[in-house]
Amino acid sequence: MSNKPILVTRSSMPPYDEFINEIMPIWDSHWLTNGGEFHQTLEKKLTEFLQVNNISLFTNGHMALELAFQALNLSGEIITTPFTFVSTTHAIVRSGMTPVFCDINCMDYTIDVSKIERLITEETVAIAPVHVYGNVCDVEEIEKIATKYNLKVIYDAAHAFGVQYKGKGIGNFGDLSMFSFHATKVFNTIEGGAITYSNSEIGKKLNRLKNFGIKDEETVDIIGANAKMNEFQAVMGICNLRHFDEEIAKRKVVVEKYREILSVIKGIKTLGQFKDVKSNYAYFPVIIEPEIFGESRDDIYNRLKLHNIFARKYFYPITNTLDCYKEKYSANNTPIALDISKKVLTLPLYADLPLDDVERICKIILN
Ligand SMILES: *Cc1c(COP(=O)(O)O)cnc(C)c1O
Repeated sequence: MSNKPILVTRSSMPPYDEFINEIMPIWDSHWLTNGGEFHQTLEKKLTEFLQVNNISLFTNGHMALELAFQALNLSGEIITTPFTFVSTTHAIVRSGMTPVFCDINCMDYTIDVSKIERLITEETVAIAPVHVYGNVCDVEEIEKIATKYNLKVIYDAAHAFGVQYKGKGIGNFGDLSMFSFHATKVFNTIEGGAITYSNSEIGKKLNRLKNFGIKDEETVDIIGANAKMNEFQAVMGICNLRHFDEEIAKRKVVVEKYREILSVIKGIKTLGQFKDVKSNYAYFPVIIEPEIFGESRDDIYNRLKLHNIFARKYFYPITNTLDCYKEKYSANNTPIALDISKKVLTLPLYADLPLDDVERICKIILN
């Protein structure tokens, strides 16, 4: 028990000197926020890195998602999944829309595209799928459905920074994609987020919405919020981006070690490499089948905790069972999501997690 605690993740940080050198000019400019020099630099670098047409930075991913819904002027029903972080569902409801929960598929836990059409009503205006764990939704089928029914598509790509599908940056699919740059995500700006988009009119609106709806000094024509990314966040992003590829390469080694040990165990399901996907190795979820493995997810979660290892039950409980939503929804409508949420455990994963620790974590799981 002398071991230092191992948490599910550890925030990436650039070398101290690199960050300090980079922020030094702020002491000359005294320009701390409101679309400063570093903000502009980060937008440019991210547009290139993510291979997208446009990006707009935000103070966090959640506000980015709320303002994305507002920028599209949406009201009515929106089809989404409950197997996600609560932010997705909250953003929909706080934007005045009604979430309609679609089940997930049991291959990669993204939205089950075969179940979307039956949920479409007169009120449906959009689909908000989640690239959960960085797994790519069936973007082609979603686009077909959206075109057929004239629906907008807003991806929650909070987990998918750096992911590519068929050689294309993941932020190019749908009308808009939201990325989170929270400290716990693969790429961070401490807190932060972004929307990628191709329609420049939407972009103008997004940029006003994050700054109180201000058009110019004397004109405020939409009811905006304050969700601007500040210069310190932008500098953190600029520095972290320099090391991103290196971090992902290290994460890959950790994931491969986990897979090597756990993928052969009966009753434990791990995810493999998906076709046409360049992965970001953001999370390592495993599914524990209690009847086959002999122990439940919670048994393993608790045993790891006794050893000072803190895995997380991402995503349990699913959002349609949370206190603030359970009156209005039944989890029985999303049986796969409900089942997976009770069996899933997300294991510690970060670039500098020693392989010895990975082996030790696996040993404790296998008891
Ligand atoms: C982290 C996260 C968000 C919210 O992002 P923040 O930057 O923390 O506001 C939204 N959706 C999902 C799926 C997330 O994991």
